[in-house]
Amino acid sequence: MTTHVKPAHLESSTPASTEPTSQASKSVTRIGRTYRFESAHHLPLLPEGHKCKNVHGHNYRVEVIVSGALDARGFVMDFAEIDAEILPLIRKVDHRLLNDVEGLENPTAEIIATWFLQRITGCQSVRVYENDDCWAEVKIA
Ligand SMILES: [Zn+2]
Repeated sequence: MTTHVKPAHLESSTPASTEPTSQASKSVTRIGRTYRFESAHHLPLLPEGHKCKNVHGHNYRVEVIVSGALDARGFVMDFAEIDAEILPLIRKVDHRLLNDVEGLENPTAEIIATWFLQRITGCQSVRVYENDDCWAEVKIA
């Protein structure tokens, strides 16, 4: 289910509510956590001569964002619960040839981000960095 929330900056003509719970009911809370892994890959669909067709490695960084209502503890999700879901996934890809991992036969950053997104409960978006300068992000529409 998708809830459309009008951004606050579009509501400037509406008098601000003094009721904190009213504001809170319009808000979305997101939390994020960063993970790292080191892997090799090659991109088999690229033409001969493209350097990324050759096996090479990256120090990947994965930023995971989870959103939702606060629970009774005041959490969207306990970071330990996020770890419990994601660390097994990190173990599947760390120090591997990513092309050998099921679902990552063509391991572009875009496809790696999607692979994580599809396996994490409540995940709103995943951004995968191949290095400091290049990243791909996938979000729930
Ligand atoms: Zn690469």
